[in-house]
Amino acid sequence: MVDVRKRFGAVTALDGASLDVAEGEVVVVVGPSGSGKSTLVRCLHQLAPIDGGAMYLDGELLGYEHVRGRLVPLTERRVAAQRRRMGMVFQQFQLFPHWTVLRNVTEAPVRVHGVAPASARAAAMELLDRVGLADKADAHPRQLSGGQQQRVAIARALATRPRLLLLDEPTSALDPELVEEVLAVVRGLARDGITMIVVTHEMAFAREVADRCVFMDAGRVVETGPPEEFFDRPSSPRLAAFLSRFS
Ligand code: ATP
Ligand code: MG
Repeated sequence: MVDVRKRFGAVTALDGASLDVAEGEVVVVVGPSGSGKSTLVRCLHQLAPIDGGAMYLDGELLGYEHVRGRLVPLTERRVAAQRRRMGMVFQQFQLFPHWTVLRNVTEAPVRVHGVAPASARAAAMELLDRVGLADKADAHPRQLSGGQQQRVAIARALATRPRLLLLDEPTSALDPELVEEVLAVVRGLARDGITMIVVTHEMAFAREVADRCVFMDAGRVVETGPPEEFFDRPSSPRLAAFLSRFS
């Protein structure tokens, strides 16, 4: 994304944010509350329209196209097609409560991507196994712990084989004892080369899992770098001040 701007009324949530993510890269975004981290991932997923700048996925402009030299918004249908190439995991899981775990994972591949139900089920069982929940396929979300629900949400997000996985504070709604099981799953995805943007307040985790860390402040990407440099030798005073709160 290049120089992306997003306002909510008088509030400027993104004030010219720029960020590149390479294939297979794990980018971890940290920053103070209100710095625009959620807005950044929500805009990327086209859950909210941007006011300026541009975003690309695999070199394709998101949300707009050039028609005779002018920038025209894409149709809903084409936006939906672009959105399907990303997966998103929210703080509050957002599973469908009246569906089983298995159906939560198979619904998008079957209904949206036209995958045959039998192969969607087989793929879903593999994903559930990967997040350690194959035995919960027939359970309903309310029968699961928060950590288990979030792991199902991760399996669901992966079921459509997204090019980019967005995770917005995947552990911050969880009781402390449930955080680690979710972080372990994300760590596994990182090892498997899944391209991800992870927003988190877990600094030790950020350092461990990130290929690159990003510090946001006041709607901008202020600093980015490999974890050792980022945490041990921050170049901006604002990042240094932010990190000092955690040590
Ligand atoms: P946190 O760490 O608390 O999750 P954040 O970095 O994710 O914070 P954002 O949620 O992106 O921050 O918010 C950035 C700014 O935009 C804040 O000032 C916030 O109040 C504002 N904002 C975000 N979403 C909306 C909205 N839907 N309507 C109005 N203002 C919003
Ligand atoms: Mg947020």
